[in-house]
Amino acid sequence: MFGCSFFPGSHGGRGSAIMDRMPNRRTFLRTSAASLPLAAAIQTFNPGMMSAETIADVAASGPAPTLIPLPARLAPVDPSTLPWQEKIRRVGQSNMTEHDPAVMNIEEWADYWHSAGADIVFISVTGILAFYPSKVQFHRPGKFLHGRDFFGECVAAARKRGMRVVARMSPDLNWGDALDGHPEWAMRDADGSVLRSPEDPRLFRTCMFTSYMDDYVPAIMREISSLYDVDCFYTNGWPPIGNLPNCHCAICSKLPPSNTTAYWRVFNDRVLELWNKYDAIAKEKKPDSFYFANLGGNVRCGPNLDRIGQAAVWFQADNQGRTSEDPAVWGCSLQGRVCRAIMEGKFAANVSAAYSTGTVRWRNASKNPAEATMWLNETLASGMALYYHFIGSEAGFGEDRRWQKLGSDYFQWAKKHDAHWTPRRSLGNIGVVMGQSTQLLYPAPAAAHAHDYMRETTHGIYATLLNGRFAFDFVHEDRLDLERISKYRALLLPNIAVLSDRQSQQIRDYVRSGGSIMASFETGLYDQNLERREEFPLAELLGIRKAGDVIGTNGNAYYGRIERSHPILNGFSNTNWLPGAQNRVPLKSVPDPVLTVVPGFVQYPPELAYPPVSHTDEPAVVLREIASSRLAYFPGDIERTFWLTGHGDLLRLLDNTIRWITQDQAVVHVDGDGFLELFAWETAPGYAIHLLNYTNPNAHHGWLSTAYPLGPQTVSMRLPGGVKVNAVNLLRSDRTIPFRLDGSVLRFTIPRVDDYEIAAVTVG
Ligand SMILES: [Zn+2]
Repeated sequence: MFGCSFFPGSHGGRGSAIMDRMPNRRTFLRTSAASLPLAAAIQTFNPGMMSAETIADVAASGPAPTLIPLPARLAPVDPSTLPWQEKIRRVGQSNMTEHDPAVMNIEEWADYWHSAGADIVFISVTGILAFYPSKVQFHRPGKFLHGRDFFGECVAAARKRGMRVVARMSPDLNWGDALDGHPEWAMRDADGSVLRSPEDPRLFRTCMFTSYMDDYVPAIMREISSLYDVDCFYTNGWPPIGNLPNCHCAICSKLPPSNTTAYWRVFNDRVLELWNKYDAIAKEKKPDSFYFANLGGNVRCGPNLDRIGQAAVWFQADNQGRTSEDPAVWGCSLQGRVCRAIMEGKFAANVSAAYSTGTVRWRNASKNPAEATMWLNETLASGMALYYHFIGSEAGFGEDRRWQKLGSDYFQWAKKHDAHWTPRRSLGNIGVVMGQSTQLLYPAPAAAHAHDYMRETTHGIYATLLNGRFAFDFVHEDRLDLERISKYRALLLPNIAVLSDRQSQQIRDYVRSGGSIMASFETGLYDQNLERREEFPLAELLGIRKAGDVIGTNGNAYYGRIERSHPILNGFSNTNWLPGAQNRVPLKSVPDPVLTVVPGFVQYPPELAYPPVSHTDEPAVVLREIASSRLAYFPGDIERTFWLTGHGDLLRLLDNTIRWITQDQAVVHVDGDGFLELFAWETAPGYAIHLLNYTNPNAHHGWLSTAYPLGPQTVSMRLPGGVKVNAVNLLRSDRTIPFRLDGSVLRFTIPRVDDYEIAAVTVG
């Protein structure tokens, strides 16, 4: 549905006052007037009756976004002051199997990653089975090891080539003899039975609250430190991502029940306790060493991201590819935005699988090259370090070797442009609150699956922002202090159901300082203990009062009746009704509403598909202006309903509302056809504008198989005073393009975007 973006022409219409005229005319003509959110004056025109010149003039008369000057550039940083991991740009991992000591060609492995330009490689120590002759009890050697020091040989081969080494462990599973020796190490079901690996029941699942993590894992770390020169330590398989553990062992049965805020606090305390303990062990031999754990799950990460962000110096985003449950092409850049929000410039890498990820997997076969490439594109665009991953080295260095050239070509290309890949600052002017507590703990309306519900909500707002080509960042709920969020013109709260009293106050403070917000549905209706509130904590601010419990849909969903004109209704004509959403919180009436609720009714039989009550005073949106702040609240779960339906009216309503609350202010404006994702960064050399082309039949399902190139994209941005532009280079097509400066406004046109393009603006 987004492959043919709903608003391709809106950029032309809105931006045309500051744009080259040709793209505007073309995009406007290609799009029907009915699908354009242009100024009201245009709405009555019929494009079929008008000449191209007339229409172009009309389009040019539409409102242009106000380009806000970019902030004064940050002071330069001396790279020699950065910790070593922040200079890592490329990470390589051939994930080692038990069989690899029998079949892997270590020299070929090391040559590949070295020639590709990897700065660091992962080498398996493990914990499930040892890749070296370990003396730690229950750390059994792999059955093909035969006394060999496979780990040590790999470390030596990497070191010889100047590559750094991550010692990779897996503390999540162990074998029956360990269980016999330490029955307390196991995770257990409610009936006391041991939880086992669903794929190989010889392995039991270890509990993170037991001495397995306190004693066994440190013993392996110290053994590795004593025998080898490694740069840092990593644990795979722990902590859990996406869901919290549910264990009934002797220790856990004394903890609060899983999936409560009380349990989440205990869980986070334990994760941080172990993280700090392992980090200290890593530093015992080398002060610049560190520990990091497996993370990911984007907004639904297991551990509290604010706390992890303070502890971690390496965010390992285990976000290897799309699945049928999470099928959108932007899965990697979404993760990148999460990493940016919580690491704030510290190192983050996205683990991109070259193998076939998904609900049906082939861990030793290459995936579609176009899909693997897009995942790497998104990694770079969102400011993470490249990380390429394959599993197993049968037949020397893989039965399937197709992935290798793709990875080394990509790494080599990226290496030529390293200066441009490290963002110093996002230029986004919209903050999207990511609501990790809501993602993990919110129960969702009774009819919906809670996990899916918030994922759908996230994708709904994400797709909306991509369609509108907004420059936005994620903001963690625990980082709503004014110092951090005052840079944003608006904060979006897409059903952020769980808000603490403190967070609610921070949002009020943000509005008092001039910020705008758009919120929806049950935002704030659960407190920090997941207790339901009787009234919205932002009720006074938003001018809303709850009138009852959530009303779902049984048949035909509710409508919003247009009561009066308003900028959020731009582009709607010839209708009194707009679609509402699947669920809503009923509100008490407000003065002078813009949309009122027409309650849902029977959809079948059609004889009964009419509204018994056609007009109410229940608002379907509440809008307020307080000084320079603009506030919008939708009582429906509009973002999620847009994701479920793809309804263009919902997209337009959201798009118009975001433009209204931001007063149509933009920091970067990209005008042209197509559905793409925009990232805009301040970098050390200048600025980097990344365009990811998602105009593709496989943007929402499956994998990309080829790219469908886009035509010209015109970029405008208002530079801070005193900044001179030296050049604009396109890093993907490897060419320099002309630019224009009108006062402080920089404009240039990227002639074509295949799958990805980066305009690197070098300033003096
Ligand atoms: Zn337990």
